[in-house]
Amino acid sequence: MDKIDLHVHTSASDSLLTPEEVIEWAVKKGIKGIAITDHDTVEGIDRAINKAKEYSQIMVIPGIEFSCDYKDEEIHILGYFIDYKSTQIKEVTKRLKDSRLKRGRKMIEKLSSMGFDISIKDIEDGISSDFIGRPHIARVLVEKGYADSVEEAFEKYINKGRPGYVKRKKLSIDESINLIHKTGGVAVIAHPGLIKNKDAINLVLQKGIDGIEAIHSKHTDEDIKYYKHIAEEFKLFITGGSDCHGKLVDGEPILGDFFTNLVQVKKMKEKSKLYKSKEEVNVKK
Ligand code: AMP
Ligand code: ZN
Ligand code: FE
Ligand code: FE
Repeated sequence: MDKIDLHVHTSASDSLLTPEEVIEWAVKKGIKGIAITDHDTVEGIDRAINKAKEYSQIMVIPGIEFSCDYKDEEIHILGYFIDYKSTQIKEVTKRLKDSRLKRGRKMIEKLSSMGFDISIKDIEDGISSDFIGRPHIARVLVEKGYADSVEEAFEKYINKGRPGYVKRKKLSIDESINLIHKTGGVAVIAHPGLIKNKDAINLVLQKGIDGIEAIHSKHTDEDIKYYKHIAEEFKLFITGGSDCHGKLVDGEPILGDFFTNLVQVKKMKEKSKLYKSKEEVNVKK
């Protein structure tokens, strides 16, 4: 079967792997294609596409993953086949990036006023882009011995409600889905099994979500079964991806271990063409 991992991060957001390394691993692991779905940014996509040109058989789908606030938690919306070069995407992602940079600096200030030996330079040394995410801060806290793992750093210091947490600007669920559609993409609810307040699922269904990420590295077998069923009931795409952030497990990243088949991806592309043509009509009006 042709495996396509529809959920891959790069160092343009918070993965340890550069876009080029992501492509190299995809080739090594023998998968047919990947979607680059960085948090709130499209800056890794062209690099991945250029690297993929060195190989004959690898498909790169332009994508994004937006974080949205919903009540007390974050809901993630994935977009595929978006026009990542559009002015709209550029403007929105620029605003989100600026807010992230400000938030990152504030978090460092908070942590250092709490007595931690941590500076903005520590973060910048570890990243190849100008994107600051909480995982970058967590990794520095681990390196400096303040936590044993990234997960522990989140739990102790930087999760919502913890002393180092600072809010940042986010799109709403509505805005994310609309932006994805307006830029000719299909919208998919990410890792629904991890969502605590299941009302969010009803909300995205009402807002015109196109697919459900039933297959995800953190889903249980029950989650997979349940969300495949929901997708079928509402006639939505069933997608799957690793959500790989570059961590090596037994020497390899999990990239490609969770995937969607080519038939499904082709159908998604067809639907994205529909959104693209609708947008053309709107522009001409
Ligand atoms: P940010 O968007 O900068 O607020 O960072 C959120 C990202 O951090 C998420 O998208 C995950 O990739 C990661 N993350 C969130 N919570 C945890 C956690 N408890 N342990 C490890 N990574 C996490
Ligand atoms: Zn991430
Ligand atoms: Fe996510
Ligand atoms: Fe993700």
